[in-house]
Amino acid sequence: MEPLSVGAQRELRARIGASRYRRRRTKEGPQGAEVVSEGKRVLDFSSNDYLGLAAHPRLSGAFTQALRQFGVGSGGSPLIGGYTRPIRELERELAEFTGRARALVFSSGYLANLGVIAGLASRRDTVFMDRLNHASLIDAGLLAGAELKRYPHRNASALSKALRSSKENRKWVVTESVFSMDGDLAPLPEIAARCRDYEAMLLVDEAHGIGVYGPGGTGVSAHFGLDCTAVPLLIGTFGKALGLAGAFVAGSAELIELLIQKARTLIYCTAMPPALAASVREALTILRTEHWRRERLFELVARFREGAQRLGVPLTGVEGPIQPILLGDCAGTAAASAALMARGIQVAGVRPPTVPEGTARLRISISAAHKETHIDRLVDELALLLCA
Ligand SMILES: *Cc1c(COP(=O)(O)O)cnc(C)c1O
Repeated sequence: MEPLSVGAQRELRARIGASRYRRRRTKEGPQGAEVVSEGKRVLDFSSNDYLGLAAHPRLSGAFTQALRQFGVGSGGSPLIGGYTRPIRELERELAEFTGRARALVFSSGYLANLGVIAGLASRRDTVFMDRLNHASLIDAGLLAGAELKRYPHRNASALSKALRSSKENRKWVVTESVFSMDGDLAPLPEIAARCRDYEAMLLVDEAHGIGVYGPGGTGVSAHFGLDCTAVPLLIGTFGKALGLAGAFVAGSAELIELLIQKARTLIYCTAMPPALAASVREALTILRTEHWRRERLFELVARFREGAQRLGVPLTGVEGPIQPILLGDCAGTAAASAALMARGIQVAGVRPPTVPEGTARLRISISAAHKETHIDRLVDELALLLCA
């Protein structure tokens, strides 16, 4: 048999040839509108730090204070010594924040999705997923061993049809509230209504919804007034608008208690460092009190869209902080991202398999940390690049 390293080299060369090679850029210094990437000062439109919290002094203040009190490591899994007071307090606060009975903290959103779906769904169940769901949700469905059915993006009537034709098995519907690569919203009221009609369990991943949408940044479910009955399982992450890392699921006391027994990514993972939990609490306080951050964010989104439309930059209809510019092919997308970088602007060029074949795109994310001049610069550079 051929040595693995030879096969690896061939596979890597093929990726380079197809413009699908991925590499990591090293950032120096804190997150913000301007960052130092690979030693170069650039305007950053690639971060999920929508509210500009990742480098906020109050978050680092809460972090260092808890560090002095609790030290750095958590010592073990939550079931074996790693469940610290800051996590317990954070869970209580998240339950209140989401209007659910209880919440459970995981070390990341990927782990939360795996743990919750594989912990609660069984092989005999059917899981209906939006076709554009995040990889972690798809992987969770596969791990659960359930029958997976993917419905057309945001299509509640196709979902309804699929639910109707599915008999006997217990049914799950899993969707993002804000789609991570498209920025559009799931039609949650319609989806929740279909779930009620067909007695399906609804799980909503609010990774990009928490902090950005809904009253006080409580998410898209809350924006639509969908409570615990309509959305029994709500996942949120701390790595996007909250500027930190980690995740939670919120739901009824019974479901959370069952997950503590069964979610393998909770049971077999080291618990989140206590200082991180303490700084997530501080981020929640900022969300509740500084509404101007969301208002500012949407003002900047509107400014970007007006400017881009005026100059003919091709936009989608989405009016949120994730602004995709669909280019289609991988090589063109990689070249556009590199050309922007050369002009001092960092924008992610997203290619398959992160997005479907033929839909490679620039994914611009706007933050409350940006200034008007930053937005205007971006618009000008995009127009030069795409509309010349
Ligand atoms: C980022 C993301 C996750 C994963 O969250 P992490 O905390 O980064 O692991 C899950 N779901 C969606 C929709 C995401 O965008």
